[in-house]
Amino acid sequence: MKDTNKHQGLRNQLVKQLEEKGITDKNVLATISKIPRHLFLDSSFENFAYQDMAFPIGSDQTISQPYTVAFQTQLLEIKKGDKILEIGTGSGYQTAVLCLMGAVVFSIERQNKLFKNASRELPKLGYHPKKIVFGDGYKGLPEAAPFDSIIVTAGAPVIPQPLMAQLKIGGRLVIPVGEKEQIMTLLIRKNETQFEKHEFGDFKFVPLLEDKN
Ligand code: SAH
Repeated sequence: MKDTNKHQGLRNQLVKQLEEKGITDKNVLATISKIPRHLFLDSSFENFAYQDMAFPIGSDQTISQPYTVAFQTQLLEIKKGDKILEIGTGSGYQTAVLCLMGAVVFSIERQNKLFKNASRELPKLGYHPKKIVFGDGYKGLPEAAPFDSIIVTAGAPVIPQPLMAQLKIGGRLVIPVGEKEQIMTLLIRKNETQFEKHEFGDFKFVPLLEDKN
């Protein structure tokens, strides 16, 4: 599959929809307008790639809805060079968004097939995360901590303590919290012990699962 003018046209329409739904960060919108989402999906979904919907990517997982990707990325307030940890690489689409925004990206995935696929495909498409790790995101990545931001792309029943501990002071953790439905939650680390908590609307994610590799 290739990226064509037709795909670019569909992406421009998608970005318009995201703006209408309330995404305001120009940098996020410009990034989404540049990334060929159809290349992160099975070719049978090509025609749906620029609809604002989640789709299956195998191993019972989904590529997040573009609105969700935009919403979470906007909350991260990424600056070039930020060191970011992503939990749940999945298709690698969100990883690509972070890379294109100039972040130094570490990403963890617990499904071996998805881990292998993203590790192989992202560089082919020109995205170079610093490291993709096969493992359990509940534990974070202590050897690379602390991070400017952490993004979790699966629904967490509770906020994993190691992720809070691996944030820099001033750092941001964006995580959907809840069992069946999740509340998008932003934690900002104020100092060693205190975190400021902001809650946003309801979202629906696949669950953040514990160790079972
Ligand atoms: N950002 C991805 C979202 C994929 S869905 C995308 O847009 O394609 C969430 C992903 O989190 C799935 O791939 C799932 O396998 C992964 N996941 C679930 N629990 C995890 C855990 N404990 N550690 C790492 N990844 C996990």
